[in-house]
Order: sequence, then C-alpha cells, then structure tokens
Amino acid sequence: MRKRMRFVLRNSNIGRICPFRPGPFMHLSKYFLPVLKEAPREAEIVSHQLMLRAGMIRQQSAGIYSWLPLGLKVLRKVEQIVREEQNRAGAVEVLMPTIQSADLWRESGRYDDYGKEMLRITDRHERDMLFGPTNEEMITDIFRSYVRSYKDLPLNLYHIQWKFRDEVRPRFGVMRGREFLMKDAYSFDLDEAGARTAYYRMFVSYLRTFDRLGVKAIPMRADTGPIGGDLSHEFLILADTGESEVFCHKSYLDLQAPDAGVDYGNDDLIAGIVGDWTAAYAGTDEVHDEAEWMKIPADERVNARGIEIGHIFNFGTKYSEPMGAKVTGPDGKDHVVHMGSYGIGPSRVVAALIEAGHDENGIVWPASAAPFDVGLINLRQGDEATDAACADLYSQMQNAGLDPLYDDTDNRAGGKFALADLIGLPWQLIVGPRGLKAGEVELKNRASGERESLTMEAAMNRLTAWRSQMKARYGG
Ligand code: ATP
Ligand code: MG
Repeated sequence: MRKRMRFVLRNSNIGRICPFRPGPFMHLSKYFLPVLKEAPREAEIVSHQLMLRAGMIRQQSAGIYSWLPLGLKVLRKVEQIVREEQNRAGAVEVLMPTIQSADLWRESGRYDDYGKEMLRITDRHERDMLFGPTNEEMITDIFRSYVRSYKDLPLNLYHIQWKFRDEVRPRFGVMRGREFLMKDAYSFDLDEAGARTAYYRMFVSYLRTFDRLGVKAIPMRADTGPIGGDLSHEFLILADTGESEVFCHKSYLDLQAPDAGVDYGNDDLIAGIVGDWTAAYAGTDEVHDEAEWMKIPADERVNARGIEIGHIFNFGTKYSEPMGAKVTGPDGKDHVVHMGSYGIGPSRVVAALIEAGHDENGIVWPASAAPFDVGLINLRQGDEATDAACADLYSQMQNAGLDPLYDDTDNRAGGKFALADLIGLPWQLIVGPRGLKAGEVELKNRASGERESLTMEAAMNRLTAWRSQMKARYGG
C-alpha cells in the first residue's frame, strides 16, 4: 500500500513538469556538471570563463560548442521566453531546416554576394547546398508557395534554429560563435504602412522579451543601408565587454517595458510605445551623430559599451520583388509584399546575461533564466536528520513549483558553497545538523549575499512568496 502511494506521488510530479523543467529528482550526485577549477587561458571575457568553469558549454572546434546540461537549461529558458513573447505578439512558429539549397539564394542574388561567411556544401549529386546563415530566401519561398490574397495578411512567421556563419574571428565563447542559435521572424504585409505596424509589434515584443530576461536592452537606431528609412533597430545591453560603442540619453535607463497585458491589436498604442522608446537619442558607433549627441546636456549622456542581442529590420520588397512574393490586393491587382526580419540570438543572450550579472564568485542569474531556482545544500550528507530534512524540503519545494538542485554529494561545505556561488542560482538553502538542532536552516540570496537563519517553514514561505512574485512580475 505504501509503495503504491509513493508511485502515485512520483507520477503526479512527473505529470506536472513541463518540458523545460527538469526531471523530478535533480540530485547533484546523479547530474552531469563538469565544473573546472580554472578557466582555460583562451577565455578572454568573464562570461566565457564562467560558462566553461560552470560546466555549461564545451568547445568542439573554433566557434562551435556543445551545450552541457546546465548551459542547455538556461538556453532553453531563454528560448522559451523569446517564443512566448513572439507568440503573444502574433507571430507563428515554424521550423525550417539548417541546410538550404543554393538555388533559392541565386534567386535573390545573395549566393554570390554573401561571401566567405557562408558555409557552402556540395552533396553527393554535386548540388550546391549551404548551412543557413539566415532564412529570408526560404521563408519568402514558403510564403509565395501558399499565400495568394491580402486577406491572409498580416503574417509573421518565425523559427528558432541553429545558424552557421563562418565568422573571421569567432571569439568570446558563444557570444560570437560560428554555429549559434537564432530566433528569426519574418513579417509579410500588403503595403508599407502595414509593414511599419508589423515592425512596431516586434519592437514591443523585444522590449517585453528582454524585460522578462531581467536585462535592460536599449533599442538603438541602426544602419538601414540602401533600403533607407528609419525602420532598423539593434537592441543592446550595456556591458564593459561589449563590442559596440554606445551613445544614448540616460532616460533610457529608467523606461519601463510594457506589461504582459499589452494589446498588440491596438496599433496606436503599440506605435505610442515605440515612440516613447525612440524619442531620445540612442545609437551605436556605426550610426553615431556627434552633432545630435552634443545637444544632450553632458550629465545626461551615457557613453558605454554594449552587446547586440537583437536586431530588427524592415527591408520592403528586397526579397519579395526578385522572388515574386505577391498577393492579390482589395483592388484585384497583384501587390509585391513588404517584409521585415527580426532576430534574437538566444545563445548569445545566455552569455550576455552573465556579462550583465556576475561577481567575483561567479554567475548571478536573473530569476527567469536561472537553471534552477534554489540550490539545496546538505552540509552533512549521511547524517540521518540532515538527510531527512533535505528530502523533506526538496519535495516541499517541488510541490510548490520551485525547481531545486540538491547538492547531495559528500563534498566539503566550503566546496559546496563555492559551487553554489559559481553556478549562480537565485537562492541557496543550507541545511546542517547544528542548525537543525536549533530548528533552523539558512537561506542565502545569491544576488545580495544576505543570509538568514529561519525555521524550515519560514524558509519555504519566503521561497514560495518569491516564486509568486516572479511569476506575477515576469509571467510565464
Ligand atoms: P553582429 O553585428 O554582432 O555580427 P549581426 O548584425 O551580423 O551581428 P544579425 O544578422 O542582426 O547579426 O543577427 C541577429 C542576432 O543574432 C544578433 O542580434 C545576435 O543576437 C545573434 N548573432 C549574430 N551573429 C552571431 C554570432 N556570430 N554568434 C552568436 N550570436 C549571433
Ligand atoms: Mg545585427
């Protein structure tokens, strides 16, 4: 009878867990977390060093990485937030292949233009193929194959898929890789006005995405090249190791992203939000306008380094024209559709989150992307009372929807603390025989470093309250 009960309990745990939560029994002794004592010398920036030390990634060749369990968990969380915010803004997910036929790229003229960044492959029938660096051609082909009428517009299709760009200097780990994950969305509209609205929706969805990821990303005017116009922005987060130089008004640091209830169907509201977020000066070195910049009072200027984590771009009919993507308009005539593309690099975002959140002891994850919520630290593995208290807390946390990693190894306390700080989970719940005798456990907040001795019940209350707060603030 008892056995059966246990079985039912386990099953119900499994059933509740979504694909991006871990299995129900996440014990460190059974996990795969190959931490390194020291970062390999080739790692120049802190995110690369910490990702290697925390056993998140392994380099397989220049700019090409395996994602180990801890890294993969963060990557999946970032990906899921990106996905949810794309969906909320009305984009529809597809999945296109990594390998593409050169013929499509010949139609747009980019097969010859793209240069050495494109990895070109020949198959056994001597056909020219390539590993996709981006998907404008393929999505335009999908569109023209199915969509005939303006009534099917607006349409925005996105996917989250690995890309390959044979960068001259892959470096900084997954920050500038050759193989990297990208979310790329593509919008199709009847005319320029529609395309502008589609662009604004993506703009706002980026504000929400980065807000949920706990970072301040500033939209900066970007070069539109031969297309012209004002519809290209890069989203950058400020970090000393960023590859771009950033010039912006300090008011951006205080702007609030719209909340989850924002009505994407209300074009004026969406345009208004974009207006607020583009009113003040913000640009990278590539487009910097010194005269405009000097108009800002000196103490309101922010001149810093930044990491590009997203880029949105309206390119009108650049691909739809040569590739013949058109629809019948309300006037009964053919109209070449207006397009835009919208990229975010989740793999680069993982590194950027670390650049924005770390201290001398390791990573400090934002709650929404942390690989686990809580590190449960058993200070005396094998001590009956301590093991029992940990087991109890572990299942209480799971029942409360928290995602704990239980350090049940027989490592020394110092090593456990160092590991917990290194991997940067928001909370550490520390359980030892001495505290238990006094009826207490210790709860440490990773970001503030604050430690507090509490009863088990009070600690659990604190954690569950935190979880509800995070859920209310960031959704999910
Ligand atoms: P960069 O200027 O950094 O080379 P890009 O302008 O070529 O990037 P986009 O084509 O705008 O990149 O790609 C969209 C997003 O994909 C970028 O904002 C970034 O987040 C990500 N990304 C681009 N190149 C890489 C890379 N080599 N490694 C990791 N992520 C990348
Ligand atoms: Mg870019």
